[in-house]
Amino acid sequence: MRAVYLFKRDLRARDNRGLAYASKRHKEIVPLFIFDKDIIRDLKVDKKRLVYLYKALALLSSQIKVYCMQGSTEEVLKEVFKTAKPTHLYTTTSYSWSGRERNKVIKSICQAHGVEYVEVFENFLVRPESIPQKKVYTPFYTEWIKRVDLTEEDPQDFKVPDLPLPTLKDLNIDFDSPEPFHPEDCFERLRSFPFERYEELRNYPAIDGSSRLSPCIRFGVLSLRSIFKTAQGRSEQFIKELAWREFWYHIAYNFPQTKDLEFQEKRRNIRWENRQEYIQAFFEARTGYPIVDAGIRQLKEEKWLHNRMRMIVGSFLTKVLLVDWRIGEEFFKEHLLDYDEVVNIGNWQWTASVGADPKPFRLFNPILQAQRYDPQCEYIKRYIPELSDIPCEKLHDPIRYALPYHKPIVNYYQRISIAKELYRALS
Ligand SMILES: Cc1cc2nc3c(=O)[nH]c(=O)nc-3n(C[C@H](O)[C@H](O)[C@H](O)COP(=O)(O)OP(=O)(O)OC[C@H]3O[C@@H](n4cnc5c(N)ncnc54)[C@H](O)[C@@H]3O)c2cc1C
Repeated sequence: MRAVYLFKRDLRARDNRGLAYASKRHKEIVPLFIFDKDIIRDLKVDKKRLVYLYKALALLSSQIKVYCMQGSTEEVLKEVFKTAKPTHLYTTTSYSWSGRERNKVIKSICQAHGVEYVEVFENFLVRPESIPQKKVYTPFYTEWIKRVDLTEEDPQDFKVPDLPLPTLKDLNIDFDSPEPFHPEDCFERLRSFPFERYEELRNYPAIDGSSRLSPCIRFGVLSLRSIFKTAQGRSEQFIKELAWREFWYHIAYNFPQTKDLEFQEKRRNIRWENRQEYIQAFFEARTGYPIVDAGIRQLKEEKWLHNRMRMIVGSFLTKVLLVDWRIGEEFFKEHLLDYDEVVNIGNWQWTASVGADPKPFRLFNPILQAQRYDPQCEYIKRYIPELSDIPCEKLHDPIRYALPYHKPIVNYYQRISIAKELYRALS
Protein backbone atom coordinates (compact mmCIF):
# COMPACT_ATOMS: atom_id res chain seq x y z
CA MET A 1 0.00 0.00 0.00
CA ARG A 2 1.36 3.35 -1.04
CA ALA A 3 0.60 6.65 0.73
CA VAL A 4 1.15 10.32 -0.03
CA TYR A 5 2.57 12.41 2.81
CA LEU A 6 1.67 16.05 2.27
CA PHE A 7 4.09 18.39 4.04
CA LYS A 8 2.80 21.79 5.08
CA ARG A 9 4.25 23.56 8.11
CA ASP A 10 6.35 20.58 9.20
CA LEU A 11 9.31 20.74 6.82
CA ARG A 12 11.58 18.20 8.47
CA ALA A 13 12.06 14.44 8.38
CA ARG A 14 13.24 13.91 11.96
CA ASP A 15 10.82 14.02 14.88
CA ASN A 16 7.89 14.57 12.57
CA ARG A 17 4.84 12.82 13.96
CA GLY A 18 2.84 12.96 10.75
CA LEU A 19 5.57 11.36 8.68
CA ALA A 20 6.34 8.88 11.47
CA TYR A 21 2.70 7.84 11.67
CA ALA A 22 2.45 7.32 7.92
CA SER A 23 5.75 5.41 7.77
CA LYS A 24 4.56 2.93 10.39
CA ARG A 25 1.63 2.02 8.17
CA HIS A 26 3.11 2.16 4.66
CA LYS A 27 6.29 0.81 3.11
CA GLU A 28 6.09 3.23 0.21
CA ILE A 29 5.56 6.92 0.74
CA VAL A 30 5.32 9.76 -1.77
CA PRO A 31 6.52 12.87 0.13
CA LEU A 32 4.89 15.91 -1.43
CA PHE A 33 4.93 19.67 -1.08
CA ILE A 34 2.61 21.94 -3.04
CA PHE A 35 3.45 25.53 -3.88
CA ASP A 36 -0.17 26.49 -3.89
CA LYS A 37 -0.49 29.48 -6.20
CA ASP A 38 -3.60 30.73 -4.37
CA ILE A 39 -1.83 30.80 -1.00
CA ILE A 40 1.19 32.54 -2.48
CA ARG A 41 -1.04 35.15 -4.10
CA ASP A 42 -3.11 35.70 -0.95
CA LEU A 43 -0.02 36.14 1.22
CA LYS A 44 1.48 38.51 -1.38
CA VAL A 45 4.60 36.43 -0.86
CA ASP A 46 7.70 38.23 -2.05
CA LYS A 47 11.03 36.79 -3.10
CA LYS A 48 12.69 36.90 0.33
CA ARG A 49 9.96 34.85 1.89
CA LEU A 50 9.89 32.38 -0.98
CA VAL A 51 13.65 31.94 -0.78
CA TYR A 52 13.30 30.86 2.85
CA LEU A 53 10.63 28.34 1.93
CA TYR A 54 12.71 27.00 -0.98
CA LYS A 55 15.72 26.67 1.27
CA ALA A 56 13.70 24.86 3.91
CA LEU A 57 12.51 22.47 1.20
CA ALA A 58 16.06 22.04 -0.06
CA LEU A 59 17.10 21.08 3.45
CA LEU A 60 14.26 18.60 3.70
CA SER A 61 15.12 17.26 0.25
CA SER A 62 18.66 16.56 1.46
CA GLN A 63 17.13 14.22 4.04
CA ILE A 64 14.47 12.51 1.92
CA LYS A 65 13.30 12.77 -1.68
CA VAL A 66 10.36 15.19 -1.84
CA TYR A 67 8.20 15.85 -4.86
CA CYS A 68 7.56 19.59 -5.15
CA MET A 69 4.82 20.80 -7.40
CA GLN A 70 3.27 24.13 -8.31
CA GLY A 71 -0.39 24.81 -9.01
CA SER A 72 -3.65 24.72 -7.14
CA THR A 73 -3.96 22.04 -4.47
CA GLU A 74 -6.69 20.38 -6.52
CA GLU A 75 -4.75 20.28 -9.80
CA VAL A 76 -1.64 18.91 -8.10
CA LEU A 77 -3.40 16.27 -6.04
CA LYS A 78 -5.32 15.02 -9.06
CA GLU A 79 -2.07 14.58 -10.97
CA VAL A 80 -0.33 12.90 -8.03
CA PHE A 81 -3.23 10.51 -7.43
CA LYS A 82 -3.28 9.59 -11.13
CA THR A 83 0.48 9.00 -11.26
CA ALA A 84 1.17 7.47 -7.82
CA LYS A 85 -2.12 5.65 -7.17
CA PRO A 86 -1.96 5.92 -3.37
CA THR A 87 -4.48 4.35 -1.01
CA HIS A 88 -3.99 7.02 1.67
CA LEU A 89 -2.99 10.65 2.10
CA TYR A 90 -1.54 11.82 5.41
CA THR A 91 -1.07 15.39 6.51
CA THR A 92 -1.05 17.40 9.73
CA THR A 93 -4.14 18.74 11.49
CA SER A 94 -4.50 22.47 11.09
CA TYR A 95 -5.91 24.87 13.65
CA SER A 96 -5.61 28.10 11.69
CA TRP A 97 -8.65 29.38 9.83
CA SER A 98 -7.11 29.15 6.38
CA GLY A 99 -5.38 25.86 7.22
CA ARG A 100 -8.66 24.28 8.27
CA GLU A 101 -10.29 25.42 5.04
CA ARG A 102 -7.44 23.98 3.04
CA ASN A 103 -7.62 20.66 4.87
CA LYS A 104 -11.34 20.49 4.07
CA VAL A 105 -10.52 20.93 0.38
CA ILE A 106 -7.80 18.27 0.56
CA LYS A 107 -10.16 15.86 2.29
CA SER A 108 -12.88 16.33 -0.29
CA ILE A 109 -10.42 15.81 -3.18
CA CYS A 110 -9.27 12.59 -1.47
CA GLN A 111 -12.84 11.42 -1.02
CA ALA A 112 -13.63 12.12 -4.67
CA HIS A 113 -10.67 9.93 -5.69
CA GLY A 114 -11.19 7.09 -3.25
CA VAL A 115 -8.05 7.99 -1.27
CA GLU A 116 -8.31 7.69 2.50
CA TYR A 117 -7.57 11.01 4.18
CA VAL A 118 -5.75 10.95 7.55
CA GLU A 119 -4.83 13.95 9.72
CA VAL A 120 -2.10 13.65 12.33
CA PHE A 121 -1.69 16.03 15.28
CA GLU A 122 1.63 17.96 15.07
CA ASN A 123 3.09 21.51 15.36
CA PHE A 124 1.93 22.02 18.96
CA LEU A 125 3.09 20.80 22.34
CA VAL A 126 -0.47 20.57 23.63
CA ARG A 127 -3.72 20.09 21.74
CA PRO A 128 -5.52 23.47 21.73
CA GLU A 129 -8.84 21.75 22.48
CA SER A 130 -7.52 19.68 25.40
CA ILE A 131 -7.43 22.66 27.78
CA PRO A 132 -10.74 23.82 29.28
CA GLN A 133 -11.63 27.15 27.70
CA LYS A 134 -9.53 30.06 29.00
CA LYS A 135 -9.67 33.74 28.07
CA VAL A 136 -6.59 34.87 29.96
CA TYR A 137 -3.02 33.67 29.43
CA THR A 138 -1.87 32.88 33.00
CA PRO A 139 -4.54 30.25 33.82
CA PHE A 140 -4.02 28.86 30.32
CA TYR A 141 -0.30 28.46 31.00
CA THR A 142 -0.95 26.64 34.31
CA GLU A 143 -2.95 24.02 32.42
CA TRP A 144 -0.73 23.97 29.34
CA ILE A 145 2.53 23.24 31.16
CA LYS A 146 1.00 20.17 32.84
CA ARG A 147 0.06 18.68 29.49
CA VAL A 148 3.19 19.23 27.39
CA ASP A 149 4.00 16.03 25.53
CA LEU A 150 7.67 15.66 24.57
CA THR A 151 7.61 12.19 23.05
CA GLU A 152 9.73 12.34 19.90
CA GLU A 153 8.77 10.19 16.94
CA ASP A 154 11.10 9.49 14.06
CA PRO A 155 9.85 7.88 10.86
CA GLN A 156 10.59 4.23 10.18
CA ASP A 157 12.44 3.35 6.99
CA PHE A 158 10.27 3.76 3.94
CA LYS A 159 10.81 3.72 0.20
CA VAL A 160 10.09 6.72 -2.00
CA PRO A 161 8.93 5.41 -5.40
CA ASP A 162 10.49 6.87 -8.55
CA LEU A 163 7.72 8.76 -10.24
CA PRO A 164 7.57 11.12 -13.21
CA LEU A 165 6.85 14.06 -10.89
CA PRO A 166 9.06 17.12 -10.27
CA THR A 167 11.34 17.59 -7.30
CA LEU A 168 12.70 20.93 -6.10
CA LYS A 169 15.66 20.69 -8.51
CA ASP A 170 13.29 20.51 -11.46
CA LEU A 171 11.79 23.86 -10.44
CA ASN A 172 15.16 25.51 -11.16
CA ILE A 173 15.14 28.06 -8.38
CA ASP A 174 18.05 30.35 -7.68
CA PHE A 175 18.73 30.10 -3.95
CA ASP A 176 21.44 32.71 -3.69
CA SER A 177 20.35 35.56 -1.51
CA PRO A 178 21.93 37.54 1.28
CA GLU A 179 18.92 37.30 3.61
CA PRO A 180 19.57 37.27 7.35
CA PHE A 181 17.51 34.12 7.96
CA HIS A 182 18.47 30.69 6.66
CA PRO A 183 16.69 27.49 7.62
CA GLU A 184 20.00 25.63 7.78
CA ASP A 185 21.02 27.93 10.66
CA CYS A 186 18.09 26.80 12.84
CA PHE A 187 20.00 23.86 14.33
CA GLU A 188 23.10 25.83 15.25
CA ARG A 189 21.02 28.70 16.60
CA LEU A 190 19.08 26.33 18.83
CA ARG A 191 22.30 24.68 20.00
CA SER A 192 24.19 27.87 20.77
CA PHE A 193 21.45 30.29 21.89
CA PRO A 194 22.14 31.39 25.51
CA PHE A 195 18.72 30.60 26.96
CA GLU A 196 20.02 31.47 30.45
CA ARG A 197 20.25 35.14 29.41
CA TYR A 198 16.96 35.26 27.51
CA GLU A 199 14.91 36.94 30.22
CA GLU A 200 17.55 39.61 30.80
CA LEU A 201 18.16 40.47 27.13
CA ARG A 202 15.00 39.68 25.21
CA ASN A 203 13.50 43.17 25.40
CA TYR A 204 16.32 45.13 23.81
CA PRO A 205 15.92 45.29 20.03
CA ALA A 206 19.55 46.32 19.40
CA ILE A 207 20.79 43.13 21.08
CA ASP A 208 20.62 39.68 19.57
CA GLY A 209 18.87 38.51 22.73
CA SER A 210 15.78 36.70 21.52
CA SER A 211 16.02 33.31 19.88
CA ARG A 212 15.03 34.35 16.32
CA LEU A 213 13.67 30.85 15.96
CA SER A 214 10.25 32.06 14.79
CA PRO A 215 10.82 31.21 11.09
CA CYS A 216 12.19 27.77 12.13
CA ILE A 217 8.94 27.24 14.05
CA ARG A 218 6.71 28.72 11.36
CA PHE A 219 8.00 26.32 8.72
CA GLY A 220 8.58 23.41 11.08
CA VAL A 221 12.30 23.16 10.35
CA LEU A 222 12.74 22.36 14.04
CA SER A 223 10.28 20.37 16.11
CA LEU A 224 8.75 22.20 19.05
CA ARG A 225 9.75 19.28 21.23
CA SER A 226 13.43 19.75 20.42
CA ILE A 227 13.14 23.47 21.16
CA PHE A 228 11.31 22.93 24.43
CA LYS A 229 13.82 20.31 25.60
CA THR A 230 16.78 22.54 24.80
CA ALA A 231 15.28 25.46 26.76
CA GLN A 232 13.92 23.37 29.62
CA GLY A 233 15.54 24.18 32.96
CA ARG A 234 17.39 27.11 31.38
CA SER A 235 14.65 29.66 30.76
CA GLU A 236 11.14 29.43 32.08
CA GLN A 237 10.39 32.75 30.38
CA PHE A 238 11.25 31.26 27.00
CA ILE A 239 8.97 28.27 27.60
CA LYS A 240 6.24 30.78 28.46
CA GLU A 241 6.70 32.40 25.07
CA LEU A 242 6.18 29.05 23.36
CA ALA A 243 2.97 28.83 25.36
CA TRP A 244 1.87 32.27 24.11
CA ARG A 245 1.92 30.87 20.60
CA GLU A 246 -0.35 28.03 21.69
CA PHE A 247 -2.56 30.39 23.73
CA TRP A 248 -3.52 32.22 20.54
CA TYR A 249 -4.43 28.91 18.92
CA HIS A 250 -6.52 28.03 21.97
CA ILE A 251 -8.35 31.36 21.58
CA ALA A 252 -8.86 30.85 17.84
CA TYR A 253 -10.17 27.35 18.47
CA ASN A 254 -12.67 28.47 21.10
CA PHE A 255 -13.59 31.82 19.58
CA PRO A 256 -13.37 31.33 15.81
CA GLN A 257 -15.16 34.62 15.19
CA THR A 258 -11.99 36.45 16.30
CA LYS A 259 -10.50 36.00 12.85
CA ASP A 260 -12.41 39.10 11.80
CA LEU A 261 -14.00 40.37 14.98
CA GLU A 262 -12.50 41.79 18.14
CA PHE A 263 -12.41 39.28 20.97
CA GLN A 264 -13.89 41.92 23.29
CA GLU A 265 -17.45 42.49 22.19
CA LYS A 266 -17.61 45.92 23.77
CA ARG A 267 -14.71 47.04 21.58
CA ARG A 268 -16.16 45.97 18.27
CA ASN A 269 -17.30 49.43 17.27
CA ILE A 270 -14.26 51.62 17.68
CA ARG A 271 -14.47 54.51 15.23
CA TRP A 272 -11.01 54.19 13.73
CA GLU A 273 -9.89 57.31 11.86
CA ASN A 274 -7.97 55.32 9.20
CA ARG A 275 -6.49 58.50 7.70
CA GLN A 276 -4.74 57.60 4.50
CA GLU A 277 -1.82 60.02 4.98
CA TYR A 278 -1.06 58.51 8.41
CA ILE A 279 -1.28 54.95 7.10
CA GLN A 280 1.04 55.79 4.22
CA ALA A 281 3.56 57.53 6.49
CA PHE A 282 3.56 54.48 8.78
CA PHE A 283 4.06 52.03 5.89
CA GLU A 284 6.87 54.19 4.49
CA ALA A 285 8.64 54.62 7.84
CA ARG A 286 8.27 58.39 8.00
CA THR A 287 6.16 58.96 11.09
CA GLY A 288 8.86 61.24 12.48
CA TYR A 289 9.27 59.00 15.54
CA PRO A 290 12.70 57.41 14.96
CA ILE A 291 11.98 54.33 17.09
CA VAL A 292 8.80 53.58 15.12
CA ASP A 293 10.39 54.25 11.73
CA ALA A 294 13.41 52.09 12.61
CA GLY A 295 11.02 49.24 13.39
CA ILE A 296 9.24 49.55 10.05
CA ARG A 297 12.59 49.61 8.27
CA GLN A 298 13.74 46.47 10.07
CA LEU A 299 10.51 44.71 9.15
CA LYS A 300 10.77 45.62 5.49
CA GLU A 301 14.49 44.95 5.17
CA GLU A 302 14.77 41.74 7.17
CA LYS A 303 11.22 40.39 6.95
CA TRP A 304 11.43 39.93 10.70
CA LEU A 305 10.87 42.30 13.59
CA HIS A 306 11.91 42.17 17.21
CA ASN A 307 8.97 41.50 19.57
CA ARG A 308 9.39 44.75 21.51
CA MET A 309 9.26 46.62 18.22
CA ARG A 310 6.15 44.73 17.08
CA MET A 311 4.43 46.00 20.22
CA ILE A 312 5.71 49.57 19.83
CA VAL A 313 4.74 49.93 16.16
CA GLY A 314 1.45 48.08 16.67
CA SER A 315 0.50 50.35 19.54
CA PHE A 316 1.54 53.42 17.55
CA LEU A 317 -0.59 52.49 14.57
CA THR A 318 -3.72 51.69 16.56
CA LYS A 319 -3.62 53.98 19.58
CA VAL A 320 -1.71 56.98 18.25
CA LEU A 321 -2.70 57.05 14.58
CA LEU A 322 -6.10 55.50 15.36
CA VAL A 323 -5.85 53.05 12.50
CA ASP A 324 -7.80 49.79 12.55
CA TRP A 325 -5.65 46.88 13.79
CA ARG A 326 -6.73 44.87 10.72
CA ILE A 327 -4.69 47.23 8.51
CA GLY A 328 -1.61 46.55 10.64
CA GLU A 329 -2.32 42.84 10.57
CA GLU A 330 -2.39 42.91 6.74
CA PHE A 331 0.83 44.92 6.65
CA PHE A 332 2.63 42.35 8.82
CA LYS A 333 1.12 39.57 6.73
CA GLU A 334 2.74 41.08 3.69
CA HIS A 335 6.17 41.34 5.28
CA LEU A 336 6.78 38.80 8.06
CA LEU A 337 8.76 35.69 7.31
CA ASP A 338 7.25 34.10 10.41
CA TYR A 339 3.73 35.27 9.52
CA ASP A 340 1.21 33.11 11.29
CA GLU A 341 -2.41 34.08 10.81
CA VAL A 342 -3.56 33.04 14.28
CA VAL A 343 -0.59 34.45 16.20
CA ASN A 344 -0.57 37.69 14.25
CA ILE A 345 -4.28 38.36 14.66
CA GLY A 346 -4.12 37.46 18.36
CA ASN A 347 -1.19 39.78 18.96
CA TRP A 348 -2.60 42.67 16.94
CA GLN A 349 -5.82 42.50 18.90
CA TRP A 350 -3.83 42.28 22.15
CA THR A 351 -1.73 45.30 21.18
CA ALA A 352 -4.84 47.29 20.23
CA SER A 353 -6.46 46.36 23.60
CA VAL A 354 -9.40 44.69 21.87
CA GLY A 355 -8.29 41.08 22.25
CA ALA A 356 -7.96 38.27 24.76
CA ASP A 357 -5.86 38.60 27.93
CA PRO A 358 -7.18 42.14 28.24
CA LYS A 359 -5.97 45.08 30.24
CA PRO A 360 -8.14 48.21 30.08
CA PHE A 361 -5.74 50.21 27.90
CA ARG A 362 -2.22 48.99 27.19
CA LEU A 363 0.12 51.80 26.25
CA PHE A 364 3.53 51.77 24.63
CA ASN A 365 4.65 55.38 24.76
CA PRO A 366 7.26 55.50 21.94
CA ILE A 367 9.32 58.11 23.78
CA LEU A 368 9.56 56.16 27.04
CA GLN A 369 9.95 52.85 25.20
CA ALA A 370 12.86 54.23 23.18
CA GLN A 371 14.54 55.63 26.32
CA ARG A 372 14.12 52.38 28.17
CA TYR A 373 14.77 49.74 25.53
CA ASP A 374 17.15 51.53 23.17
CA PRO A 375 19.01 53.70 25.68
CA GLN A 376 22.07 54.32 23.45
CA CYS A 377 20.01 54.57 20.23
CA GLU A 378 21.96 51.67 18.75
CA TYR A 379 18.82 50.24 17.20
CA ILE A 380 17.56 53.57 15.85
CA LYS A 381 20.95 54.42 14.35
CA ARG A 382 21.38 50.95 12.84
CA TYR A 383 18.19 51.26 10.80
CA ILE A 384 18.24 55.04 10.29
CA PRO A 385 21.96 55.66 9.73
CA GLU A 386 21.29 59.19 8.47
CA LEU A 387 20.60 60.09 12.12
CA SER A 388 23.94 58.74 13.38
CA ASP A 389 25.31 62.14 14.37
CA ILE A 390 22.30 63.32 16.36
CA PRO A 391 22.55 63.04 20.18
CA CYS A 392 20.56 60.08 21.38
CA GLU A 393 18.35 61.94 23.86
CA LYS A 394 17.01 64.01 20.96
CA LEU A 395 16.22 60.93 18.89
CA HIS A 396 14.24 59.52 21.78
CA ASP A 397 11.96 62.52 21.99
CA PRO A 398 11.06 64.09 18.65
CA ILE A 399 8.24 66.10 20.28
CA ARG A 400 10.61 67.97 22.54
CA TYR A 401 13.54 68.34 20.12
CA ALA A 402 13.35 69.42 16.47
CA LEU A 403 15.30 66.90 14.40
CA PRO A 404 16.74 67.17 10.89
CA TYR A 405 14.31 64.44 9.97
CA HIS A 406 10.61 63.94 9.14
CA LYS A 407 8.49 66.11 11.40
CA PRO A 408 6.35 63.96 13.74
CA ILE A 409 3.06 63.41 11.90
CA VAL A 410 1.13 63.72 15.15
CA ASN A 411 1.75 64.82 18.71
CA TYR A 412 1.76 61.65 20.79
CA TYR A 413 0.30 63.26 23.92
CA GLN A 414 -2.60 64.89 22.11
CA ARG A 415 -3.44 61.76 20.20
CA ILE A 416 -3.34 59.48 23.17
CA SER A 417 -5.92 61.53 25.01
CA ILE A 418 -8.22 61.24 21.97
CA ALA A 419 -7.64 57.48 21.93
CA LYS A 420 -8.39 57.16 25.63
CA GLU A 421 -11.69 58.99 25.13
CA LEU A 422 -12.57 56.77 22.21
CA TYR A 423 -11.92 53.61 24.20
CA ARG A 424 -13.57 54.98 27.34
CA ALA A 425 -16.75 55.74 25.41
CA LEU A 426 -16.99 52.03 24.58
CA SER A 427 -16.20 50.68 28.04
C1 LIG B 1 1.62 42.86 16.66
C2 LIG B 1 2.37 41.53 16.76
C3 LIG B 1 2.31 40.62 15.70
C4 LIG B 1 2.97 39.39 15.78
N1 LIG B 1 2.90 38.50 14.72
C5 LIG B 1 3.51 37.30 14.80
C6 LIG B 1 3.45 36.36 13.71
O1 LIG B 1 2.79 36.59 12.68
N2 LIG B 1 4.13 35.19 13.85
C7 LIG B 1 4.84 34.88 14.97
O2 LIG B 1 5.44 33.81 15.04
N3 LIG B 1 4.90 35.74 16.02
C8 LIG B 1 4.27 36.93 15.96
N4 LIG B 1 4.35 37.80 17.03
C9 LIG B 1 4.95 37.33 18.29
C10 LIG B 1 6.44 37.64 18.51
O3 LIG B 1 6.70 38.99 18.25
C11 LIG B 1 7.35 36.78 17.64
O4 LIG B 1 7.00 35.42 17.77
C12 LIG B 1 8.81 36.94 18.08
O5 LIG B 1 9.20 38.29 17.99
C13 LIG B 1 9.70 36.08 17.19
O6 LIG B 1 11.04 36.28 17.53
P1 LIG B 1 11.88 35.21 18.32
O7 LIG B 1 11.76 33.89 17.64
O8 LIG B 1 13.21 35.76 18.54
O9 LIG B 1 11.05 35.14 19.68
P2 LIG B 1 11.50 34.63 21.12
O10 LIG B 1 11.32 35.77 22.04
O11 LIG B 1 12.80 33.97 21.09
O12 LIG B 1 10.34 33.58 21.48
C14 LIG B 1 10.42 32.20 21.13
C15 LIG B 1 9.20 31.78 20.38
O13 LIG B 1 8.04 31.95 21.18
C16 LIG B 1 6.93 32.33 20.37
N5 LIG B 1 6.48 33.67 20.77
C17 LIG B 1 7.20 34.65 21.33
N6 LIG B 1 6.41 35.72 21.61
C18 LIG B 1 5.18 35.39 21.21
C19 LIG B 1 3.92 36.06 21.23
N7 LIG B 1 3.78 37.30 21.71
N8 LIG B 1 2.85 35.42 20.71
C20 LIG B 1 2.97 34.18 20.21
N9 LIG B 1 4.12 33.48 20.17
C21 LIG B 1 5.21 34.09 20.65
C22 LIG B 1 7.45 32.38 18.93
O14 LIG B 1 7.17 31.13 18.33
C23 LIG B 1 8.93 32.60 19.13
O15 LIG B 1 9.72 32.18 18.06
C24 LIG B 1 3.69 39.06 16.96
C25 LIG B 1 3.75 39.98 18.02
C26 LIG B 1 3.10 41.20 17.92
C27 LIG B 1 3.16 42.17 19.07
